[in-house]
Amino acid sequence: MDPYTIFADIVAGRAAASKVYEDADVLAFMDIRPVTSGHVLVIPKSPVRSLSELDPELGGKLFRVGQQVAAALRASEVNCDGVNFFLADGVTAGQEVFHVHLHVIPRTPGDGFGLRARPRTPPRADLDYLAASIRGALRRAVPE
Ligand code: 5GP
Repeated sequence: MDPYTIFADIVAGRAAASKVYEDADVLAFMDIRPVTSGHVLVIPKSPVRSLSELDPELGGKLFRVGQQVAAALRASEVNCDGVNFFLADGVTAGQEVFHVHLHVIPRTPGDGFGLRARPRTPPRADLDYLAASIRGALRRAVPE
């Protein structure tokens, strides 16, 4: 699969971006089509396509920078009463750019942003069954 995305050009300085933070590993910049005003993307500089490819240390750093950006949004001139983090992993989850990115979305009352979902409360037995299945998969992925 073609590893190229526009984010690689942004990291390399070949494409324009309105940057808010940069260090050796991480870049944060304004989303070109913000869902609310002040919407920021935090990305690893390396071209990591999916969560499964993301080094956990780097993932931790993305979250840390996301936290700092969230605090900065609240302290800046951006209208920001709350913040949502959002990360789409895979086409079905809504991922369009295949370079991992954490959305940091400032929220204000009535801004129209939200997740569409129809949550139900399943029987406890169903929750327990799925929890056991996930625990098993975690043990296989992260052996003690
Ligand atoms: P996804 O749907 O993959 O989670 O989100 C991709 C995000 O990247 C979208 O919010 C979209 O607006 C943003 N985006 C796509 N192309 C560019 C670009 O060239 N520059 C910037 N700054 N953001 C982009």
